[in-house]
Parts: sequence; C-alpha cells; structure tokens
Amino acid sequence: MRIILFGPPGAGKGTQAKLIEKEFNIPQLSTGDMFRAAIRNQTELGKKVKNILDSGQLVPDETVVELVEEALNDEKYVNGYILDGFPRTVPQARAFDERLKRNGRKLNAFLSLEVPDEELMKRILSRAEGRSDDTPEKVKVRLEVYNEETAPVLNFYKQKGVFQEINGLGTVDEIFERIKTVLNKTR
Ligand code: ADP
Repeated sequence: MRIILFGPPGAGKGTQAKLIEKEFNIPQLSTGDMFRAAIRNQTELGKKVKNILDSGQLVPDETVVELVEEALNDEKYVNGYILDGFPRTVPQARAFDERLKRNGRKLNAFLSLEVPDEELMKRILSRAEGRSDDTPEKVKVRLEVYNEETAPVLNFYKQKGVFQEINGLGTVDEIFERIKTVLNKTR
C-alpha cells in the first residue's frame, strides 16, 4: 500500500505513521526525520537545511523532491510506503504524481488528519522533544506556512478520489482505530 499521511504540524502524523508501519508492515518515510538526521550528522544536506528548519520555513521543493525520489528507490519501499511530511506543496505533489505515473503505480490512500489550530499549538508546546522549531514563535510561522503553502495540497488530492478525512482529535488509539477502519477498506 502507498499512503500519504497528511496534516498540519502537531496533528500527530509521526505517531500515527509509526503505528501504521507496525500494524500493516509498511515502512514509513518522514522528510522531517530525514532532515533532522542530516543536521545531526552534519552532512552537506544538513548544513544546507539547518537554518530553514530552525526558522520554520520550508526546504526548497527541488531539494525535497530529489531527496524523496532517491530515498524511494530503496528496495525496502518496493511494496509500499507511508509518506509523512511529503508532499507539502503543490509542486511537490505534482512531482510525486509524475513519479507514480512513470512507475505505473497508484496511491492507495491520502489520509488527512484534521485538528483545529488551537489544539495544534497546545500539543506542540507540550511535547518535550527538544526540537528547535517547537517554540511559540516558530510554531506560529509553521502554522502560517502550512495554511499558505501546504493546505492547497488537499485540493490536489480531493480531485483524485483518494482523499480520506480522519478526525485527529481523541486519544492516539482512537485516532489509530479510525485510520485502520479506512485502510482496511482500501486494501
Ligand atoms: P511538522 O509537521 O511538525 O512541522 P516535520 O518533521 O514534518 O514537522 O517537518 C519539520 C521541518 O522540516 C519543516 O518545518 C520544514 O522546514 C522541513 N520539511 C519537512 N518536510 C518538508 C517538505 N516536504 N518540504 C519542505 N520542507 C520540509
């Protein structure tokens, strides 16, 4: 199964992606995790994106698309994957769509985790992961960037007939149950 897990910062994409990974045995690919690992390991990519992540802005499309294209060539993704944090702009969505077409593949589900803004801010500020972009000012920037650049991706997928809305309020388990119900129907 090829799944996109979509939603604003703090919606719980990472948490749910890991649960889906375990239950359905599909590997997760998180662009945010990849960037943070690159920064930690001080690679060329890490040096290039550090200030961008710190500011809460988006990494340029070209860089992200290249990274994901290359990562998805790994054999472990041949039978499917869960994308977390990608695509995050309409140009990224188009590039990914092209790739699927080129490979004769289809997306099985686009899961949109729906959580109101006030709740997002609360969740991010109460999680203690020590992320440099988890301060009130940076979260505000990330939510603005989401509304301006990322939310339009929703319409792109609504037109494709794979769009599924998931209520992202409740306990982790409750939300995961909703996701399972949807995925079991699309299998
Ligand atoms: P969150 O969803 O909580 O903002 P992520 O880990 O998905 O966290 O992303 C953290 C940061 O990594 C983003 O603010 C952005 O700078 C960068 N990033 C991750 N994925 C992308 C992407 N697809 N396009 C551009 N930038 C990205």
